[in-house]
Amino acid sequence: MRAMILPALCRLDENPNPLQLAELPDPEPGPGEILVRVSACGVCHTELDEIEGRTPPPRLPVVLGHQVVGRVAALGPGAADFRVGERMGVAWIYSACGTCEFCRSGRENLCADFRATGRDANGGYAERMVVPERFAYRIPDGFTDAQAAPLLCAGAIGYRSLRLSGLQDGQSLGLTGFGASAHLVLKMVRHRFPSSRVFVFSRTAAEQDFAHELGAVWAGDTTDTAPEPLHCIIDTTPVWRPIIEALRNLAPGGRLVINAIRKEAHDKEALLGLDYPTHLWLEKEIKSVANVGRADVSEFLALAAEIPIMPEVQEYALADANRALVELKARQIRGAKVIRVS
Ligand SMILES: [Zn+2]
Ligand SMILES: [Zn+2]
Repeated sequence: MRAMILPALCRLDENPNPLQLAELPDPEPGPGEILVRVSACGVCHTELDEIEGRTPPPRLPVVLGHQVVGRVAALGPGAADFRVGERMGVAWIYSACGTCEFCRSGRENLCADFRATGRDANGGYAERMVVPERFAYRIPDGFTDAQAAPLLCAGAIGYRSLRLSGLQDGQSLGLTGFGASAHLVLKMVRHRFPSSRVFVFSRTAAEQDFAHELGAVWAGDTTDTAPEPLHCIIDTTPVWRPIIEALRNLAPGGRLVINAIRKEAHDKEALLGLDYPTHLWLEKEIKSVANVGRADVSEFLALAAEIPIMPEVQEYALADANRALVELKARQIRGAKVIRVS
């Protein structure tokens, strides 16, 4: 099969072609696993974190890609949940132990043996991959393969962030950073919490305009003060300063949810501006979001079909995966980027 492999970590600004096209043997599905014929695979910021070493794959070379849509090509021994030919998807969570206290309570995203698709196991930048059937999802009708791909990461983690925020209908929500995940959160809030007002903090006028178009009542810069204190704020930025600004904008008892796998180090000194009475007192809370659980993916797919949420996608050939990554890094974003594999 053809695959785009990552042979070595590097910086994308020094090496704009980190992935190499390679011919690999088809993987064999083991017990409880299914072989997937990949149709489409979304391109995610986390791939940049992997390539540049902020969340490095434990073994190289590896096939990246964790927003995978395809068809079941074969079943491993004992796999019985899917039929050959059925459409299904794979998300960031590839497997977890299944027996620890986290796995037994539906929090497999926190399992010590959490393995990520396209980092700890080969992912979807390839014509075939294998996945444990417990971590495969049926894709609702109504989405094309390419449209469904970005729902599997940006959508599912946005859904988890919103759940962890504890937002109730009528409460106000802030979003700091307004990329793929945050704009899906705004669409979800408009549907599920119609009386809630959404306030968007973004550094670019284009994103602020987009926020207004999608129904935000206010949009301003990351360092602005919202017109009212906010019950919850979700941060999706890669840096630290917005954390301080968000804490300042929280209402008493408010909660800040940080949805980022890693933060970049360059503005970390902003944290020295933390002032206890301004930023933390009056029972303000901070919570991070780690990975996604199986319920996040399946519940979000159902919700996306119900609303419906139809992502705007821009497609690339498998051999053009490097160009998709470079354009993502340069924020040349016109909808979600999706690799069209077959
Ligand atoms: Zn992702
Ligand atoms: Zn576990």
